[in-house]
Amino acid sequence: MLGNYQYLYHPLEKLGIKFITEKQLNNLKKLGINSIYDMFYYFPRAYDDRSNIKKIAELRMEEYVVVKANILTVSFAKTKLGKTAVTARITDGTGIMEVYWFGMPYLKKSLKIGEEYIFIGQAKKTSIFRFINPEYKLTSAQKKITTDEILPIYSSSKDINQNILRKLFEKFIKSFLENIEENIPISIIEKYNILNRKDAIREIHFPSSIKAIEESKRRFAIEELLILELGILKNRFLIESSNKKYDLSGKKNLVKNFLASLSFELTSAQKKVIKEIYDELAAGKIVNRLVQGDVGSGKTMVAMVMLIYMAENGYQGALMAPTEILANQHYIGVKDKFEKLGLKVEILTSSIKGKKKNKILEEIASGEIDIVIGTHALIEDNVIFNKLGLIVIDEQHRFGVNQRNKLREKGFLGNLLVMSATPIPRSLALSIYGDLDLSIIDKLPPGRSPIKTKWINNSADLGKMYDFILKKIDSGSQAYFVAPLIEESEKISLKSIEKLNEDVIKRFPNKKIAIIHGKMKSKEKDEIMLKFKNKQYQILIATTVIEVGIDVPSSTIMCIFNAERFGLSALHQLRGRVGRGSMQSYCFLVSESKTDNSIQRLSIMEETQDGFRIAEEDLKLRNSGEIFGLRQSGFSDLKFIDIIYDIKTIKLVRDECIKYLKENKGEIKNIYLAYDIEKKFENNSINN
Ligand code: ADP
Ligand code: MG
Repeated sequence: MLGNYQYLYHPLEKLGIKFITEKQLNNLKKLGINSIYDMFYYFPRAYDDRSNIKKIAELRMEEYVVVKANILTVSFAKTKLGKTAVTARITDGTGIMEVYWFGMPYLKKSLKIGEEYIFIGQAKKTSIFRFINPEYKLTSAQKKITTDEILPIYSSSKDINQNILRKLFEKFIKSFLENIEENIPISIIEKYNILNRKDAIREIHFPSSIKAIEESKRRFAIEELLILELGILKNRFLIESSNKKYDLSGKKNLVKNFLASLSFELTSAQKKVIKEIYDELAAGKIVNRLVQGDVGSGKTMVAMVMLIYMAENGYQGALMAPTEILANQHYIGVKDKFEKLGLKVEILTSSIKGKKKNKILEEIASGEIDIVIGTHALIEDNVIFNKLGLIVIDEQHRFGVNQRNKLREKGFLGNLLVMSATPIPRSLALSIYGDLDLSIIDKLPPGRSPIKTKWINNSADLGKMYDFILKKIDSGSQAYFVAPLIEESEKISLKSIEKLNEDVIKRFPNKKIAIIHGKMKSKEKDEIMLKFKNKQYQILIATTVIEVGIDVPSSTIMCIFNAERFGLSALHQLRGRVGRGSMQSYCFLVSESKTDNSIQRLSIMEETQDGFRIAEEDLKLRNSGEIFGLRQSGFSDLKFIDIIYDIKTIKLVRDECIKYLKENKGEIKNIYLAYDIEKKFENNSINN
């Protein structure tokens, strides 16, 4: 049925394409191009046309530009490694640039001093702007051949240059554009007057006019949103059209006993959310709900209550957490309480293996286990439930849309609760979690005093901070010290976690200190967390492995080094590790950074603790790929839509998607679109 369309997704090397060499194949791979589809959707980052020419005086760092300038001087040298370097100084009257070509000694002779050239490349800034190995051509020559042709400028690499790329694109379009089929439903194409797909691909690579580029971009924006939104929304229709029924007697005795065993009462916000879920179940509906609540609002309790409720009424439940530490914490937190209620609870993560694993799998299959807590090991194919009634996904933003789709596609059309601390503005939430109903825990448990937050930006204050922490620890507090993860390539002297460890040991010679990071075995991490929780350590030195979900209420100090390195979301999550009990908590943000962006972020952290406010500030400060919790949503790799500014378009496409699904009873009739959706979600695997 799909015909030649499916070849679009085949690995290039399997297609035996004659005009492409093995070396080129490898170089394309390095650019992330593995298929014809990738190739067509590898769009130019700019165009070489007259209107795009920049003045040297107006260049910005790292900008990909076209400069028209005269050559002042040309010189020749050898680098230390024996490579040749031809250097030119160029000017366009507004400033001077340096241009370097490595490994092209012949240029020395062919570049003409005094002539005007067009240079295309990335402007690097040292003392003055530089181009390294840019494309170049004589303007007089260019005029003759191409009067007003608009040429694409691709992100290239030193292995594969613009000219080769362009030639390849030309050949690909000539040979394979025929394979392309329209993937936007005709009704939508007509309604919005959208450029057809073949023309759009041709125009985006080799535009006939500036207007055509704009039309192509608009088309691709709509196309990519359609694929994403339909992929997300079709879950909803799967569920609504399934005739799955739960036979719930509505017994709540175990829930009552459980609540009575707690040392606190549920907050009104927790009760409200639990009631929303009860009501939905009572109405015979399938729960498909996002529970949003700021860090520390008590989402876990809501999950546990619902798991107990389902168990009492004859259904198994599963709770899936993004990390083993967190899964373990949940498990340890409820094990005794659940067992007292007569419920059997187990933990399943990828580090549980062999006999033990087999036994757990058997007991899940037989129904002996009522509730299983774990990581994504829970949704592997070998996990088969006897009578699964509810799945809870904790810290959803760490998993992403795909995990949910995977669940649904595996045939789980049952009750799903998704917990997230990610406070995103409602308009965005609607798009991203468009397939879910929304409950909000809008209140923190009582008795929490605001966390006192201080930005430490000089060594005098740092000294005072250490003295203060020492006093607090002496009077029974526990502290986290967090350092960013350092990549080896980075030269800047950051406080790496080992260095931090040394410093802290020196500062606190008599204290019990432990260190925890992502590279450690999960068993080791669990032991350390448990000991920390039992107050066997007073200080825990950590990377962001403790960012999500960790709950040690007796810990009241969070000290974050190189705080400028963390985004607002991470800072907010990290700070959320303290202030979980009734004791006054403190957060120190250690940073000497003086960039505007750091100053803004750290000041916001000092000013507020309101997750929604922080999320909004985050939206203003960052680009969409990095926003609060969007990383894994599938929304962060959109090429044409800036989700911050294009909310209107997002909403429009979303409405069209809902309409389309309704009209087609949840089925995607356009087979090419259906295939693209399948591929998108398959490639977007977020399991790792
Ligand atoms: P989060 O929403 O961040 O997942 P948790 O569920 O981890 O929050 O809860 C944070 C802390 O608050 C935990 O120590 C939990 O035991 C406690 N807690 C939860 N609900 C209440 C409540 N109603 N009253 C007091 N403390 C509560
Ligand atoms: Mg939690």
